Amino acid sequence: MLNKDHPRYESLVYREKIVEAHKNGILADSGMIAHGRGETFDYLIGEKTTENSLNTIEVAACYFLTRKRPVLSVNGNTTALVSEDIAKLSELLDIPVEINLYYRTPERIKNIEKVYRELGVKELLGTDDDDFIDTPDLNGPRSPVSIEGINKSDLIFVPLEDGDRAEKLVASGKEIISVDLNPLSRTAQTSTVTLVDNIVRVMPQLIKSVNKHMDCDKSILLEKISNFNNKDNLNTAIHDIIKRFE
Ligand code: ATP
Repeated sequence: MLNKDHPRYESLVYREKIVEAHKNGILADSGMIAHGRGETFDYLIGEKTTENSLNTIEVAACYFLTRKRPVLSVNGNTTALVSEDIAKLSELLDIPVEINLYYRTPERIKNIEKVYRELGVKELLGTDDDDFIDTPDLNGPRSPVSIEGINKSDLIFVPLEDGDRAEKLVASGKEIISVDLNPLSRTAQTSTVTLVDNIVRVMPQLIKSVNKHMDCDKSILLEKISNFNNKDNLNTAIHDIIKRFE
């Protein structure tokens, strides 16, 4: 039982979720290591959503509301931490959720599929019943994507991604929104929009922002997008970390 007065209570709650997801066959061993890397950067960021991140989340909402076929790509870590919010966002925008795993096994796919089915996700892709096509120039288990999902999408939400896949998706002409606490990772550096923030804080804020912009004129949303520059966003995120050392 976790003590609520513990100064690192929230971080411990998320660690428990990660451990539980590992026990339940949702998370691969390396998913725990990836979480640890994320925690380190979160510590450096100050474990809060910065003003820069808040602005970038607004831009991400504008992308979702102006693109034709967005898809939410999910892995074990995302499922362990924010499956309910993924299901909510999928419903709000009426867009599919696609499972894509680095360590893909039929068991893990079934376990993750069960989570999203129980949450009522209407269009769940990337399961073993799906039809797949390879991502151009990408080898390995992450290469196959759903023909009707990522393959046909114009915008992909890729939280906690590995750099290889992010690079190849962008090279194949897709726009991608990533969530990565490390502003220096290849994923962060190659994305169209990088949310340098913890996925557990991003999701509720993103849902709020989509709701807020839902009825906005499309020209206003497009203007917010054209005023955004991801290099400036990443530089600000890096400077926010440096400032914490001063
Ligand atoms: P890349 O291949 O993009 O250079 P990497 O090798 O660090 O990066 P992985 O270890 O595959 O990538 O993915 C983990 C990434 O996810 C790390 O950059 C880590 O900071 C980030 N991460 C982990 N947990 C979270 C979280 N809760 N919220 C946001 N980002 C996270």
